[in-house]
Amino acid sequence: MTTAVELPDVEYVACEMCLKEVPRSEAAVPEATDYVVYFCGLDCYQEWKSQRDKANGQDKGSGP
Ligand SMILES: [Zn+2]
Repeated sequence: MTTAVELPDVEYVACEMCLKEVPRSEAAVPEATDYVVYFCGLDCYQEWKSQRDKANGQDKGSGP
């Protein structure tokens, strides 16, 4: 008989910022986005959000 380790049926997702894998049930999932993204915690979410806001804000006044 093969001894198989019984893993709990947990789906892991990668954090959008640090790529750390976390159980989906524990991941932070912001809903106000066009697509689904996961974060290992609110710290990564805040950092991602600030970068996103900064990127969006660069539309004005940039360019040749
Ligand atoms: Zn993270």
